[in-house]
Amino acid sequence: MLHISGTAASGGLAVGTVKRINRASSGLTRVVLDPRREKALFEAAVLLAKDELAELEQRASEADKDIFLFQRVMLDDQGLLDEIGQNIRAGAGGAAAVEKAAEVYAGRIRSIENEYLRARAADVVDACRRVVNILDGRPRETLRLDSPCIVAADEIYPSDIVSVDRGMILGIITAGGSVQGHAAIISRTMGIPAVVQAGEDFLEVCDGQPAALDGFAGEMFLCPDDATRARFLHRIKLGKRQEQTLEKLRRAECTTQSGQRVYLLANCSSPEDIELAIEKGADGVGLLRSEFMLMAGRLPGEEEQYCYYVSCLAAAGGRPVTVRTFDIGADKEVAGISQDEDNPALGVRGLRLCLANPDLFQPQLRALLRAAAKGPLKIMFPMVSTPAEMQAALDALETARETLRKRNVAFAETVEVGTMIETPAAALLAEPLAAMCSFFSIGTNDLTQYTHAADRVNPGVAAYYPVSSPAVTQLIRMTVQAAQKAGIPVSVCGESAADPALAAQYVRMGIHRLSMAAPSLLEVKEAILNME
Ligand code: PEP
Ligand code: MG
Repeated sequence: MLHISGTAASGGLAVGTVKRINRASSGLTRVVLDPRREKALFEAAVLLAKDELAELEQRASEADKDIFLFQRVMLDDQGLLDEIGQNIRAGAGGAAAVEKAAEVYAGRIRSIENEYLRARAADVVDACRRVVNILDGRPRETLRLDSPCIVAADEIYPSDIVSVDRGMILGIITAGGSVQGHAAIISRTMGIPAVVQAGEDFLEVCDGQPAALDGFAGEMFLCPDDATRARFLHRIKLGKRQEQTLEKLRRAECTTQSGQRVYLLANCSSPEDIELAIEKGADGVGLLRSEFMLMAGRLPGEEEQYCYYVSCLAAAGGRPVTVRTFDIGADKEVAGISQDEDNPALGVRGLRLCLANPDLFQPQLRALLRAAAKGPLKIMFPMVSTPAEMQAALDALETARETLRKRNVAFAETVEVGTMIETPAAALLAEPLAAMCSFFSIGTNDLTQYTHAADRVNPGVAAYYPVSSPAVTQLIRMTVQAAQKAGIPVSVCGESAADPALAAQYVRMGIHRLSMAAPSLLEVKEAILNME
């Protein structure tokens, strides 16, 4: 039995035979023509590739369509096309020119600091590979799976997953890849267990071998012994039984045994996430992380943002959507906007950064106010530390209203505005803050980090970052008391709300709104339904 350790990219377990996908280039077989004709062939191949991508886009689920759209847009990217043109002029055949340019271009993307953008390198390679295969006259090398198996490869591309019957892929393990990569994102959406960054050593020996893959722990056992195999099969059986039980709770109203209604909301970062969450029975969106809109590397204007927020409202089907204004900085770095500071977690981030950049903040506030006229949209400010800062945010909102009034544009005059409680100072000053807003939302991820002075993303201090802490609980208690005194609702939207035991503890403390990632909704609902 060989134990392979990687990074967990999509939860779930699989037992089956491994099929290794080997994409070693078969070399160019075609005679290279003169540059002019190579260029013409290349341009024709791009057209065909774009047609194929448009077809894939149509067949993809709503959540995955963007991936193929992005690949199609990449094939129009002037920088990439220029690079390919140069290679052709230098005498390379079309296919070699594309392969070379794709490597250079993907390399550039991989060197970007932002993890999300880095993961897009695989999309560039995937789109270019499609053009190369057309130029080489090779049939597109798709995953051809005759029976269900665990797929192993250097890297898996988004088109691999969506072009194969879901039932044929039991699990995925890749030597490289990344958790934020689109292939991993699709795996999670489709519920396919996946492990990435497992190193290359196992690739040569895995093909055709039995294996047990654990997408929760990020590991695989090749040629598992009988005990390991039996343990996996037992866990799979238990998991299926639990899933079936939970599915029945989807439409059940979330109420404790004593009749207290608890609203289960979702943490989302796109309209697609919202659709999935509503499918899972969410009562609305408790946290829309709006800064994810900026991760594609450009800043959408007011109009684009307005359309985006309206589509989020539509996806929520009349349920409330709480949009957090851009929370940029520290762990949410956005190229070109985040400040270069020695200590970004304590620097110009979140609301501070927006207040310092009206050109960034005002269009967002205007877009939000306009969208709020179309449905139950609430606005929430992140990383507030003093009432003065909250007042500055409210003043900025008033400035946005004045601009819209002058423009004679429809917008919501009154909109619910909330404060995120994620700094100890905000919890300690909850009373004056409560007088200034319509609701509180406690961000336990940052509240824990700042209370314990332990970086939330540094594994070296993970032991100092407790999942449940008496100090944080004390701050939460103060926040709830201030909210109750002022008569405003309070929710928890940090990761801790997804922990059934902590969720129950929050409900007992008087918090009746919990917001979490959609996959945790049913498990938390079950815990609350069983609460005395
Ligand atoms: C939090 O800090 O708990 C929170 C919900 O915000 P984020 O994780 O996006 O910082
Ligand atoms: Mg936070």
